[in-house]
Amino acid sequence: MTLQQIIDDSRRIVFFGGAGVSTESGIPDFRGVDGLYHQKYDFPPETILSHSFFMKRPEEFYRFYREKMLPLEAEPNAAHRKLAELEAAGRLSAVVTQNIDGLHQKAGSRRVYELHGSIWRNRCMRCGRAYTPEFIRDDPHPVPKCACGGIVKPDVVLYEEGLDDDVVSGAVHAIRRADTLIVAGTSLTVYPAAGLLYDFRGRHLVLINQDATPADDMAELVIREKVGEVLSGIRVTPVEGEDDRA
Ligand code: NAD
Ligand code: ZN
Repeated sequence: MTLQQIIDDSRRIVFFGGAGVSTESGIPDFRGVDGLYHQKYDFPPETILSHSFFMKRPEEFYRFYREKMLPLEAEPNAAHRKLAELEAAGRLSAVVTQNIDGLHQKAGSRRVYELHGSIWRNRCMRCGRAYTPEFIRDDPHPVPKCACGGIVKPDVVLYEEGLDDDVVSGAVHAIRRADTLIVAGTSLTVYPAAGLLYDFRGRHLVLINQDATPADDMAELVIREKVGEVLSGIRVTPVEGEDDRA
């Protein structure tokens, strides 16, 4: 079946995406050709974005974070927009994302499980006060400081930190009930997120990724193209008849 036929045959699609979903919005991924792994830093991104590094060298963490992890002006691309459209048409039940950029919500998606948190939520580690990402970006201190003196930390899951239980169980539940799982723009190397794929029991597993992934052999359809270009070619027709998603 083609991707169009699979989508026309589905009404509980779950889209499981990674950094490659946002490269067409101008945000670099980690492991793709233009990814951060191929740029020169004193430490690999995985080290800088780890909990122990954050605790030991917060100034260096925020230097990298402010420079690379705050794409506040980025706009959703054709992939984000098509997914919002599929949800509104009753064909897609959830987006599960490893991204922290908030672009799915910006495009209008409503049910989004953000496995690794979001740059749009930030809190003081001492008093819990909420801050905008613009505050993190613009605060003149090398490490952004709350009025109380505590450090303002993004609600982003760093390496060595655990995922939020409610987010994970929501994502697992959606994937278990999905008739189609579209996995896109992810190298499937970051665990436990990548393991969610194995909860899928539905009919159609589709993989859209420019590079090969460890799950290619499992998929009914593997498309090695840009996810925004692929999805922009999809026609969305509303589900006819009774809504059986309940
Ligand atoms: P990754 O960098 O490991 O892999 C990205 C994959 O996407 C690569 O295999 C690449 O070939 C593919 N790709 C790139 N552009 C594509 C496109 N337009 N169409 C199809 N495929 C494309 O990303 P990952 O698996 O998500 O793991 C990286 C981790 O870093 C995640 O945990 C994520 O939270 C974080 N991250 C997030 C962002 C973001 O929020 N936008 C950006 C960078 C990294
Ligand atoms: Zn505070």
